[in-house]
Amino acid sequence: MKTHKNIKFFVGIVLFLAVVLNAATYSPEQVQRVVNEAYTKYKGDMGGKNADYIKALARVDSKIFGIVLVDKKGNIYKAGDVKSRVSIQSISKVFTLALVMSERGSNFVQKKIGVNATGLAFNSIIAIELHGGSASNPFVNAGAIQTTSWVKAKESKERWVKISANMSAFAGRKLTLNDEVYDSELNDNKRNQAIAKLLDAYGRMGSNPLEATTVYTRQCSMNVSAKDLAVMSATIANHGINPLTKQRVINAKYTPKIMAVMATAGLYDNAGDWLYDTGLPAKSGVGGGIIAVVPGEFGIGVVSPPLDSYGNSVRAQLAIKYIVKKLHLNPLTK
Ligand code: GLN
Repeated sequence: MKTHKNIKFFVGIVLFLAVVLNAATYSPEQVQRVVNEAYTKYKGDMGGKNADYIKALARVDSKIFGIVLVDKKGNIYKAGDVKSRVSIQSISKVFTLALVMSERGSNFVQKKIGVNATGLAFNSIIAIELHGGSASNPFVNAGAIQTTSWVKAKESKERWVKISANMSAFAGRKLTLNDEVYDSELNDNKRNQAIAKLLDAYGRMGSNPLEATTVYTRQCSMNVSAKDLAVMSATIANHGINPLTKQRVINAKYTPKIMAVMATAGLYDNAGDWLYDTGLPAKSGVGGGIIAVVPGEFGIGVVSPPLDSYGNSVRAQLAIKYIVKKLHLNPLTK
């Protein structure tokens, strides 16, 4: 009988510790220490390669490596090169999706664009054909160009003004264009134009396909630092309120929808492995940035240009995985 009681007591202690260890029990000092550790651990890892299908991206300094966490109160934890700016690229797709969702609702996005994974590369043309003319989701190039085309605007200029103002509100400062990347990508843009024209043939575009592709290219060429990315991501984590400016940028009812698409397709055809390892909604860009959202707690932004074969930053993935593990941030364990 006594042994039975002892076992019960022991099991109770183990369960209690499991809950406590999994709960968010980190102090600000711990968070900063773990961010520093992630930086030191992966600083010298030069695996991967800058994107080169857009020529200007191949010229970006591969050594840039910065990690920033922003919590819901606006506290900032950082390590490394958190000021250098790279082009936002595909991470911009998250914020234009947010804009279109605000303007047209989440059902529109689900029905007109889709929210399923393609299992194929981000710039796949065959994925469109395989899915009956659907882009599948707003984070592959097809779905992103389509999303841009559905921003309510009378003409191109108005579309661009709205998209750039929206991204700036998420970042809490006026973002500016990386002209070198923009010019370069405009010249390396034939594949995206083909994608947009194919979608247009299926009746899926909200505006002229070439116009939408140009605005999309511009949105991908916005310059951001690791800090900007962390603030943008923290705005999603904080239910749509920018934790630095306190501005409401998107209705709280849409942030779970955005995070769901990030979890499904944020790291493209590697999104399953990413979710398995971290449990976090995230989004990568070929400029070398990754954002990850710890719902209700942190936004993470990391910049490091060398990419793996999927087009995801090697060091950014390693750093985020390390931080998630050390601080027990995987929401699926809660
Ligand atoms: N602008 C890039 C493109 O259209 C974005 C791709 C990315 O970051 N994965 O190819």
